[in-house]
Amino acid sequence: MPIRLFDSLSRDYRELRPAQPDGVYRFYNCGPTVYAAAHIGNFRTFVVNDLLRRLLELEFGPDNVRHVRNLTDVDDKTIRRAREEGRPLATVTQEWTAKFHADCAALNFLRPHVEPTATGHIPEQIDMIAALERRGHAYRTEDGSVYFKVASFPGYGALSRVKERELRTGSALSGKPQTHDADEKEDGSDFALWKGYKADDGDTFWPSPWGRGRPGWHIECSAMSKKHLGDTIDLHTGGVDLLFPHHENEIAQSQCCNGTTFAHHWYHSEHLLVDGKKMSKSLGNLYTLDQLREMGHSPAALRYALLAGHPRKQLNFTLDSLHAADKALAQLRAFRAALTSSGTTDPFAPALAALQDDLNTPHALGLLFTTLHAGPFGVSSAAFDRLLFALGLDLTEPVKTATPTPPEVTVLGEQRWAAKTAKNWAEADRLRGALAALGWSMLDRKDGYSLEPAKK
Ligand SMILES: [Zn+2]
Repeated sequence: MPIRLFDSLSRDYRELRPAQPDGVYRFYNCGPTVYAAAHIGNFRTFVVNDLLRRLLELEFGPDNVRHVRNLTDVDDKTIRRAREEGRPLATVTQEWTAKFHADCAALNFLRPHVEPTATGHIPEQIDMIAALERRGHAYRTEDGSVYFKVASFPGYGALSRVKERELRTGSALSGKPQTHDADEKEDGSDFALWKGYKADDGDTFWPSPWGRGRPGWHIECSAMSKKHLGDTIDLHTGGVDLLFPHHENEIAQSQCCNGTTFAHHWYHSEHLLVDGKKMSKSLGNLYTLDQLREMGHSPAALRYALLAGHPRKQLNFTLDSLHAADKALAQLRAFRAALTSSGTTDPFAPALAALQDDLNTPHALGLLFTTLHAGPFGVSSAAFDRLLFALGLDLTEPVKTATPTPPEVTVLGEQRWAAKTAKNWAEADRLRGALAALGWSMLDRKDGYSLEPAKK
């Protein structure tokens, strides 16, 4: 059965198939901005992405899926954070990247095949902006910035229907400059491709044909998906909060630069509510994984709780839902332990089919537990493991580590993993030694690693 998924652009359910003749499915997610710990609302989106990645691997084979997720490591927020802390931007973003990776590993996410950074792709972004300028889709302003001219792209607004929405109220896209804008764009809906240097940027700037400055946020996804996946990708996903303007702007930049369809399929997961309310700093409900751990909850329980709601519906998260998740995981563990290698029946096909049908996770979990109640007799352990792989539920008992990982340990772990991936064994060994000196050990797995206090 093929995977069928709602497409935010066509507003229809469509089957997922690789468009290119090489049979490789090209999958791009917008990643985090690395200036603080990700919260459970961010993780909801990443759990949904990971579920998709796993279903794609089951459907097309692990070698026929190419998954790219970017890291936004330069923007207003990262620069402000580095300035406030009086530290170099790269030091701050590296630490938060390492923290993000540690959280992702704890939540059992498969690593993307490529995780490009905005600062690592400055020339690619400049090339794209220059091409847009040559083709009449961009213009410079006095302050050394470059803006995308929204009026030059008739397809603008197809994803978000922003034209219908805004023209009715006579604002953003009416063609009149909005006088309250501090910048010099020609039209209120135009957006920055390149931001001319300002004193607040400190030593964060790059040379460009337009003078020193830094890329705008939207262009990084267009440039990095082009470099690592080509002009056209099969599936682009993100949280619904990115649909407008970010994804609308990505389409405009990519299609005006490349002259072809940017993404065949768009998928957006919905917001997470906490105790029935929107998440916000002032309500103090932006839980991070570490905060939940300190309350005694496991990452596996969080993953389960985030899977319990349909990804395209708002999900109300409560701490109680983590207790329910723990119970469910205990039932799954007991069932798995009762399975023998001689079982041959696969009662889980309907649950897998529910996942493949627009990621209907609540239905899939319902079907899974109906099967559990029928008992383990004769059930194939391989079939059970396949469904658990799709859900990404790791049934090993949670290890309760009371010791939070210090940032310097997280960074060393990150550097050692990079060295190992680059087959730089001498450096990897040196960094393992540095970790040991701090009293930590690093456990390698096929797809990632974990850091644990060394046993005394
Ligand atoms: Zn993006």
